[in-house]
Amino acid sequence: MNRPTRPPTRSGRLPPPAFLRALPGLSIPAIALLALLALPSCKRPSLADAGDPGPDKKTLRVITTTTMVTDMVQHILGDDPGVSVTGLMASGIDPHTYNLPARAQAKLRQADVVFYSGHHLEGRTDELYKSLKGRDILVTAVAESLPREKLLVPKGFEGNPDPHVWGDAALWAECVDGVLETLVKARPDKKDALIANASKYKSQLTELDTWVQQQIAQIPPEHRVLITSHDAFNYFGRAYGLEVIGIQGISTVDQAGLADIAKTTDLIKGRNLKAIFVESSVSPAAIERVARDANVEIGGELFSDALGPAGEMETVNGETYDVGTYIGMLKHNVNTVVAALK
Ligand SMILES: [Zn+2]
Repeated sequence: MNRPTRPPTRSGRLPPPAFLRALPGLSIPAIALLALLALPSCKRPSLADAGDPGPDKKTLRVITTTTMVTDMVQHILGDDPGVSVTGLMASGIDPHTYNLPARAQAKLRQADVVFYSGHHLEGRTDELYKSLKGRDILVTAVAESLPREKLLVPKGFEGNPDPHVWGDAALWAECVDGVLETLVKARPDKKDALIANASKYKSQLTELDTWVQQQIAQIPPEHRVLITSHDAFNYFGRAYGLEVIGIQGISTVDQAGLADIAKTTDLIKGRNLKAIFVESSVSPAAIERVARDANVEIGGELFSDALGPAGEMETVNGETYDVGTYIGMLKHNVNTVVAALK
């Protein structure tokens, strides 16, 4: 199998997909504002536009948080000039530590519809989205529509489910209905088109789920171990049969300690694993340290909590996809993992 076409650096790591990494001196609000500027202009008005007149009163104002959520909402909306979609987080933004700039907060309160991922993924802004309910704004936590029995509840997580549900394409497909329901309430005259778009997107996600299973089957069972920075891949692992180890836990707020690094290093050596992986929205420091200590290859960069840069095309095995879409992101991750572990 060909490796993904994004050229790796000397460390074997793919270059940072987000321009934000080149700007370490910026504050988080400044970075978030730049992230908004980085979004393509199509149906995504920037909050930083001069004068910021915003959409007219007839336009339905939809605000979304993560790139995965934005992508799903846009697929279901289709081409609807009566709606503006503003994604708050761009590629490379870590939702666990994301803070909303004051100007975006004001914009949020003027929204008609808000979609966030939920289950405390947006750790610092979760309460803010919840507080919008009852303000004449339709607020939907996309992952919270899933039945409890399908969710993973990690030990020591105080009964809260793991929020990274998009790792399982079939589970992510189940989230489509809740988004559709909200959009039909907001755009009743577009009901038929919304239902058709949602149905098409669900079948694409179901096809993707089958494709992932077929690809993972190429990895010998003893090599099906995915070691990454944080625990973003538990649903991916459960759905596709990989053991998953994130060295710094469920949220990126926790840093990997020396004990975590030593334990992971021992495990890699003991099981003779071939590669471990860095994540696009998380500092690679701990993974790079483990790679050195265990003398193991970094198999590439995976997109965990944010999609790739919008419009960045990648070709693997003759198939070209946009890593800035959910489908392209998962294909990138699977192709990267299979190439390194098989
Ligand atoms: Zn995460």
